[in-house]
Amino acid sequence: MSQESSPESRREELAGRLAEVRRRIDVARDAAGRDDEVGLVVVTKLFPASDLDLLAELGVEAVGENRDQEASRKVAELTHRSRLTVHFIGQLQSNKAASVARYADVVQSVDRPKLVGALERATGAAGRRLDVTVQVSLDPDEGRGGVAPEKARALADLVAGTPALTLRGVMAVAPLDGDPRAAFARLREVSDGIRHDHPEATWISAGMSGDLEAAIAEGATHLRVGSAILGSRESHR
Ligand SMILES: *Cc1c(COP(=O)(O)O)cnc(C)c1O
Repeated sequence: MSQESSPESRREELAGRLAEVRRRIDVARDAAGRDDEVGLVVVTKLFPASDLDLLAELGVEAVGENRDQEASRKVAELTHRSRLTVHFIGQLQSNKAASVARYADVVQSVDRPKLVGALERATGAAGRRLDVTVQVSLDPDEGRGGVAPEKARALADLVAGTPALTLRGVMAVAPLDGDPRAAFARLREVSDGIRHDHPEATWISAGMSGDLEAAIAEGATHLRVGSAILGSRESHR
């Protein structure tokens, strides 16, 4: 779809959907009685670098990618790299840490000690620093990544004790089945526990196209929204 459309019509399409998502965010913030900022990470996986540049021109400040090979290539192609913060949000093998540390600004999907070690070495080698959130599993049966809630605090301590990594908070994906709001409430509890020891780790990254309202109601500070802005990924597989 995006290949056929002209840059101008794609820009209009993205602008319209972005405005609609921003409207949903405002409505949900009002409903939750929140007047703090909710950060928007636009998930651009499977869409071309030209879309990321258009999003930057439309005022988007953060994008999310979930596969190293695709992300490293796309980030290198960007015209507006300096206007965007790049969040890596996918399951990450330790042997890809060196690559991710070269182009990402944030790794949201840190879910095991081995990955913390790999990112520590990788940032050292690349002379960079990374912001990190600990990914919490809200459904142990799904295998979509994430540390068990009861182990999240120890993992957060490990990240916080690693000089090249800055602990920012927690991240989670709602289970495929069940009430996303209940799952996000659990995430908020995990966040509370971590902030007890690390008050600066305030980020709660939760909420996608289908459940951003529930996430905002449970205190999400960052949303990761893909298809509601870019369109269906099916045609890009
Ligand atoms: C793809 C993805 C998203 C965005 O999902 P949409 O339903 O398209 O908004 C958010 N978070 C993660 C971890 C993802 O992989």
